Amino acid sequence: MKRCLTCGATYPSSERACNACGAHPATIDGLEAHAPDLSQDGGGFKANYFPELAVLEQANFWFRARNELIAWAAKKYAPDLQSFLEIGCGTGYVLSRIAKDFPSAQIYGSEIFSAGLPFAMKRLPSARFMQMDARQIPFNDEFDAIGAFDVLEHIHEDLDVLAQTRLALKADGVLLLTVPQHRWLWSAADVHACHVRRYTAEELHRKLKATGFDIKLSTSFVSFLLPAMWASRTRQAKAPEELSAGAELEIPDVLNQIFYQIMRLESGFIRMGVKFPAGGSRLIVAQKSKQRAMQNR
Ligand SMILES: [Zn+2]
Repeated sequence: MKRCLTCGATYPSSERACNACGAHPATIDGLEAHAPDLSQDGGGFKANYFPELAVLEQANFWFRARNELIAWAAKKYAPDLQSFLEIGCGTGYVLSRIAKDFPSAQIYGSEIFSAGLPFAMKRLPSARFMQMDARQIPFNDEFDAIGAFDVLEHIHEDLDVLAQTRLALKADGVLLLTVPQHRWLWSAADVHACHVRRYTAEELHRKLKATGFDIKLSTSFVSFLLPAMWASRTRQAKAPEELSAGAELEIPDVLNQIFYQIMRLESGFIRMGVKFPAGGSRLIVAQKSKQRAMQNR
């Protein structure tokens, strides 16, 4: 069901306006806008990256391999999902994979920046898109699974996002997360990407438990390529003027293919149950905790 951001009442998802106070979301370019004041400049990302991203994602090893890993985790941990929300869906690259793998599911995408949504809508005409602030998610008990892929590190109030995500999930609902990790990898690339932090596993586990999640899977990835990543970041430190949105990802075709195969090999190990202690990113699957749900009622 929907939760009114004005008065807090809940009402059926099929209805546009709150039953209790009559408030309803604004509309931007025909889409529901739950945080219209932030749609142009919500912080945490630069909206002019979207066109660049949309081109980059299709071919780049990192986006391709991450997509396959996310799709595997969704199938393993939420095999029966009928509703899926992606927070910060950007250009819809991940969402289109989820939609392909779960053809009967209702797919929702949200983005704080209206600028990303036309790309996503073009990719995925059957999904429902909305403009939304992840710190105020206008749903209660609505989704079987929610994903936020390289989103949390852009938001200062990550605990608020996790707490709101938990409210929006159905009982036993599953949260899929990817984040950049290791503070020692922090570099100009993070600043350029508007990250507010790189996570440690301990920090993210603690925050998930504090907001009522049980962790089902937690592993590093981009582990085999960590030395290459570290080398790239060291090089950037020497020539920061060469940075672009995808500085680290714009690499020669041959290298792109090799890196993709290396990440596929690594994914094979993760699928077999190997958990890597170090890697450029972390994948987490967490489930809405029953314990907390009962306390809240
Ligand atoms: Zn209301």
